[in-house]
Amino acid sequence: MALLIDIFLCRTDNYGYLVHDVDTGKTAAIDAPDAKAIKAALERRGWTLSDIFITHHHTDHVEGIPALKREYGCTVHGPRSEAEKILGLDMLLSGSSTATLGNTNFLVIEAPGHTLGHIVYYEPVGGHLFSADALFSMGVGRMFEGKPGPMWEALAELRELPDETLIYCGHEYTVSNAAFAQSVDPRNPALNIRAAEVKRMREKDIFTIPVSLGMEKRTNPFLRADEPVMARAMGLPEGTDPAVVFGALRKAKDEFK
Ligand code: ZN
Ligand code: FE
Repeated sequence: MALLIDIFLCRTDNYGYLVHDVDTGKTAAIDAPDAKAIKAALERRGWTLSDIFITHHHTDHVEGIPALKREYGCTVHGPRSEAEKILGLDMLLSGSSTATLGNTNFLVIEAPGHTLGHIVYYEPVGGHLFSADALFSMGVGRMFEGKPGPMWEALAELRELPDETLIYCGHEYTVSNAAFAQSVDPRNPALNIRAAEVKRMREKDIFTIPVSLGMEKRTNPFLRADEPVMARAMGLPEGTDPAVVFGALRKAKDEFK
């Protein structure tokens, strides 16, 4: 029951992921940011695409679907509630659905906020979480469609997964996320060490992903909205509803330069 994961950057800062179930030889792409880049990664590995797991309807996550379907005849899984916005979905998923790739099962978790129907894929045996634009390293996606309450609740639920869970997000935004995180949480030693580390990694073109959930719990301000230090940073009284603190953090990030 082994799973191999191939990571590559495409478009400008999108992460492409191929997930390969060794037992059966089945391979899924997590989202379809760029058909050419996905095809090239498949050819490098000698894999053929059987499935695509879509997280949300944004162009930079779905644009490659038609070309990949034509080339491989693959099965496309994605969120039921965004089916009208995504061309070519075959399997409709919602919270607590399972998406299957050969002998590997992915639990579907709803994570609304960036888009209302955004889902993430969690593989519990190896401990892999494909979070796309719901959860980044040291950040979260811009809240285009959702409200702070449900977005915070979904992230608080993801935070309950094991600390060793490896997070594979949708974009390489880590360095700029770290700058914002340090602006609101300047005296967090774990954050300051991680911020310096990811800067060095990006200077050498090393991917900052995957990152463990344990690391994110210590360094991601959005996962710490229920800690007094975050309310204080937002100028809110201690005991403020974490969803309100979360909303204030998201707004501060939107305005951060
Ligand atoms: Zn997006
Ligand atoms: Fe995106």
